[in-house]
Amino acid sequence: MPLVSMRQLLDEASAKGYGVGAFNVNNMEQIQAIMEAARETRSPVIVQASRGARAYSQDRFLYHLMLAATEIYPEIPTVLHLDHGNSVETCKSAIEMGFTSVMMDGSLMPDGKTPSSFEYNVEATRTVVEMAHAKGVTVEGEIGCLGGIEDGHGAGLDGLSHLTDPDQAVEFVKLTGLDALAIAIGTSHGAYKFTKKPTGETLKMERLMEIHRRLPNVHLVMHGSSSVPQDLQDIINQYGGKLKPTWGVPVEEIQLGIRNGVRKVNVDTDNRLAITGAIRKVFSEKPEEFDPRSYLKPAREAMKKVVALRMTQFGQAGHAGDYAPISLTQMAERYAAEPVTV
Ligand SMILES: [Zn+2]
Repeated sequence: MPLVSMRQLLDEASAKGYGVGAFNVNNMEQIQAIMEAARETRSPVIVQASRGARAYSQDRFLYHLMLAATEIYPEIPTVLHLDHGNSVETCKSAIEMGFTSVMMDGSLMPDGKTPSSFEYNVEATRTVVEMAHAKGVTVEGEIGCLGGIEDGHGAGLDGLSHLTDPDQAVEFVKLTGLDALAIAIGTSHGAYKFTKKPTGETLKMERLMEIHRRLPNVHLVMHGSSSVPQDLQDIINQYGGKLKPTWGVPVEEIQLGIRNGVRKVNVDTDNRLAITGAIRKVFSEKPEEFDPRSYLKPAREAMKKVVALRMTQFGQAGHAGDYAPISLTQMAERYAAEPVTV
């Protein structure tokens, strides 16, 4: 089937009460790992590319790899999503390229670093919503600022300095008409999210639940939601890596989020850790190897395992065949006929 809109996936996830992992990609092996995991677990899936990924791969390569994925895995409903679009222009170029969903992150200015005003965020996001919905493309926005930096994007703050204000979230959704809302509840991008296992002091699940109570029909998005499992850290360090001790978002907290309106869960770091650990292991155990396939194959397999596990834990496993895809044209007609209301 062709790439589908994220809105359809999240609506389905909402109706059945599960979450959908959104996994970042930069190259062929990562796309293959995700698609294999989706086939094995029969999961609908969101594949996402950041601006950094688009620059790294030249995004036409990524786009055509994703078209190959839809040919090879026709049974898997697959979304191609832009992660952290920094400007209207970036979202526009992604839509023109064929992305079926975009994130307009207007919580930061176009430099991707400076926290913006509420008014700027509303204006930029609403502009993208109008442009995207006319083509049936889904829009994710963000209110509040996540911690850390990912691919050069982020204010580099700790996760608690710009938490999402529930009143602002309600207002933001009403003024923009977006499809999915990323909220800041204490999580950060990157491997170093928490210096110890997070508690209610550092990971504000209560805040998430309040936002869900106020916006029960809005699909919530958790960014920075890698769990940074100890075993993946250990493999890297065992084979010569030097990761400092760190904690991610425990899977049970993500599952609590999913019971409270979270439909999209962003995971990147766990996959990076799995890939790096697998490559380090080969380099360490077989220093005579020089065929890239000798380490890229185990790297791909290691990432696939993590993705398949997350798909099962988030509840999307088994749901790939539940529904018929809605075309972007039909989605555009739907948006035109029924403007999103709160
Ligand atoms: Zn993010």
